[in-house]
Amino acid sequence: MNKKQIISDSSEAIFKLKFLANEKESIRRKLLITAEALRFKAKQLANTAKEKENIRRKLEVTAKQLAVIAKEKEDTRKKLVVAAKQLADTAKEKESIRRKMANTAEKLRLKAEDFAKITARKKAILASIGDAVMACDENGTVTLFNRKAVAMTGFFAREVIGKHYSQIVRFVKEADNEPSIDFIAEAMKTGHRTIMADNTLLVKKDGHKIPVADSAEPIRYAHGMLIGCVIVFRDISQEKETDRAKSEFISVASHQLKTPGTIVNLYTEKLLDGRNSELSPKQKEYINEIRSANQSMTDIVSSLLNVSRIEMGIFAVDPVPVDVIEIFKNIAKDSDSNLKDKNINFKQEYHQQEHIIPIDKLLLNIIFSNLLSNAIRYTDKNGTISVKSIIKENNLVISVADNGCGIPAGQQNRIFTKFFRADDARSKYTNGTGLGLYIVKSILDHIGGNVWFTSTENKGSTFYFTIPLVRVTIIK
Ligand code: ADP
Repeated sequence: MNKKQIISDSSEAIFKLKFLANEKESIRRKLLITAEALRFKAKQLANTAKEKENIRRKLEVTAKQLAVIAKEKEDTRKKLVVAAKQLADTAKEKESIRRKMANTAEKLRLKAEDFAKITARKKAILASIGDAVMACDENGTVTLFNRKAVAMTGFFAREVIGKHYSQIVRFVKEADNEPSIDFIAEAMKTGHRTIMADNTLLVKKDGHKIPVADSAEPIRYAHGMLIGCVIVFRDISQEKETDRAKSEFISVASHQLKTPGTIVNLYTEKLLDGRNSELSPKQKEYINEIRSANQSMTDIVSSLLNVSRIEMGIFAVDPVPVDVIEIFKNIAKDSDSNLKDKNINFKQEYHQQEHIIPIDKLLLNIIFSNLLSNAIRYTDKNGTISVKSIIKENNLVISVADNGCGIPAGQQNRIFTKFFRADDARSKYTNGTGLGLYIVKSILDHIGGNVWFTSTENKGSTFYFTIPLVRVTIIK
């Protein structure tokens, strides 16, 4: 190899080496860049890993929270299931209650229908009834006024309903046109049925008056609560006329019967007189029977005569000064045999002053002998009867007390009614007409006196009557 060759080869080699070196440098640089890029990447990766770690931790926390929430949700779900079950039960119960209520509602509807029918029927009955009917509530406000009431009073139902009964329907006494006892208020106050006083007139809308009768009956609700009153009244003009004719007939008949009664009495007395000793004991016994039967008959006749006089308003009152105590004692003396027959312990206790009083002797006789004979009749053997008189507030007050059979509480309000006899008296003591107390009350009403009683069944009764002292009032 020549030198030139060698130099050429070496230059070539150098060139190659240089080229290689350059390439290496370029590769080194590239490698450096790549290393830098890798480092950067590594850093990024490290950062990402850190972030991921953070995220993982957060996720872990979130997962825990989610687990808690999930548990809570599960609990809630369970609770909801329980609640849903309860709701289902409640719904079931509600459905059963609804069904029951629907049943009850149906029953109530049917009841209401029945009630409406009954009410309509009752209204129709009340409307068409022959008597006047008025009903009021517990305050006395009129709630019902039937057709007959309209016809009798002249007031339309709309004028009356909603008003207090006393503003419209007025009752007065026949004797003086003064307002009669408020039997409606009385019924509401006492809670018992009350009867209109005798001789009551109804004042019609046009001022005309018609005689009426009847009663007021309290209306009670459950537990006896008073919720009003039903008043029934009827026109008794016709009855009054018939009564008047009857009284006239009775008056004439009893008057005619009085004379034969007196004659029978006279002749029985004569026959029983000691001078007729030819009578056998048996005959005397028979005549005694005749005398006592005749006595009962003349008593009845005289009661009937008194009643007819009272009813025809022809009871003459002739007050003259008399010793009233003397009269009481004489009547008691006349009852002596009856008192003795029953071995009654009879006591009399009279006031000391003012024995002389202007009074109708016959009327006082009728009053006192009726009360005394009742006390004797309704008291058993060995009983006690006490008569007392006192002067009180310008009145002579007389009481007749006995410890006899008494009057049943349920019948006491009818005791002064004509022909009324209490059940016990009627069954145990057959004698009696039920006229005595009616006569007593009528006379006392007539002369401005008063009569009342207290009585307990099987314990006894006390009857009181008063006579005004100043003068005897005569009501025309
Ligand atoms: P009577 O002729 O029946 O006695 P009254 O009118 O005198 O008629 O009396 C009416 C009723 O009052 C009697 O039937 C009797 O039920 C009752 N009565 C009256 N007085 C008494 C009394 N003292 N004791 C008990 N009951 C009496």
